[in-house]
Amino acid sequence: MGCCCNKNIKSSSELMNLDNTYGAHNYHPLEVVISKAEGVWVWDPEGKKYMDCLSAYSAVNQGHRNPKIIKALKDQADILTLTSRAFYNDKWPVFAEKLAKYTGKEMILPMNTGAEAVETAIKVMRRWGYEKKGVPADQAEIIVMEENFHGRTTTIVSFSTDPVAKNNYGPYTPGFKVVKYNDLKAVEEAITSNTVGILLEPIQGEAGVFVPHEGYLKGIREICDKNNVLFACDEVQTGFCRTGKKFAFMHEGIVPDVIIMGKALGGGVFPVSAVAANKDVMGVFTPGSHGSTFGGNPLGCVVASAALDVLIDEKLDEKSEELGKYFRQKLVEMNSPKVAEVRGRGLLNAVVLKKEAGKARIYTTAMKERGVLAKETHEWIIRFAPPLVVTKEELDWALEIITDVLK
Ligand SMILES: *Cc1c(COP(=O)(O)O)cnc(C)c1O
Repeated sequence: MGCCCNKNIKSSSELMNLDNTYGAHNYHPLEVVISKAEGVWVWDPEGKKYMDCLSAYSAVNQGHRNPKIIKALKDQADILTLTSRAFYNDKWPVFAEKLAKYTGKEMILPMNTGAEAVETAIKVMRRWGYEKKGVPADQAEIIVMEENFHGRTTTIVSFSTDPVAKNNYGPYTPGFKVVKYNDLKAVEEAITSNTVGILLEPIQGEAGVFVPHEGYLKGIREICDKNNVLFACDEVQTGFCRTGKKFAFMHEGIVPDVIIMGKALGGGVFPVSAVAANKDVMGVFTPGSHGSTFGGNPLGCVVASAALDVLIDEKLDEKSEELGKYFRQKLVEMNSPKVAEVRGRGLLNAVVLKKEAGKARIYTTAMKERGVLAKETHEWIIRFAPPLVVTKEELDWALEIITDVLK
């Protein structure tokens, strides 16, 4: 352990002990403590430097402490932070217009976390079903996918297929039909006259960066149109240039009815989430029917607004597309006997290990020792998602370590 001249600075092992003692054990972190960050780099209390190849599950697409976003945060903190929606404020309306234009939708509903945005989408689809489609009371059905990840609320875990996330949280919320992902026939067969919506991730992130076959999203769009059903895309992890386009659904040239956003919308500094839809859908919300005390707060709005500016000004969509291709190509070229598959889009990528290679944690720990922070998802998949501001040189530095560890 390095020198800790300042007595107030706790060592990594002291901090991990405190975490284990006083913090609930609902996570199993890699054994590294982060106490400082800038761009793609993070440091532990002993001063060791690492490259962040997780980006807080894609919440830090714009890089740690992006100067434009931090400036917006600091400036606004000196002016106005929270009003609640009981009053108008001068930042939410401007941000609403900006996000509406960014998404191409007519209306925005602001929340804080991704799970809250998903809950909002569920509510809007159900209301639309009863009020616009004419589904009988309490009969609305939403089709969701196996291996989905949409958050942690009791309703959302009700339709999870991951026993670790779901077990012993019942009684579960009814009204969801789970079908196989990447299977259009399964969706068609699950549709009834009470189906109000289909909710899915355009790429399944937590499932291990599972990219559906080309034409899948287009097929879902067609099924929705044919059956008068809403299409809700959960872009919480895939949105905001992570996969090489503003949103992952754009790879197939389709437009969903409901866009669910979070994570990088807050630029890695503040929880900001939102749902975008056109008036015929979002219009079902009336005063008092939904809301959030912190949703649309001025501090979050200026942060999110700056977060969008960074994505646009720095062309992070093009960068993600280009560097992502390069990254996958290099991983494939390493030709490792331990790797079964390399997959992903833009800078959201995963290496799937062969059974005989052992647990992914062995490799993520070895990479951590050498200065690359990546996290396994399941026991045999390693996800790589560096901040989108990463340079080719920085990526090459990480690739050398990754290749070394996986060879
Ligand atoms: C992370 C995530 C969520 C949940 O977001 P929280 O902010 O953790 O509530 C929802 N959907 C997807 C696809 C995610 O990756």
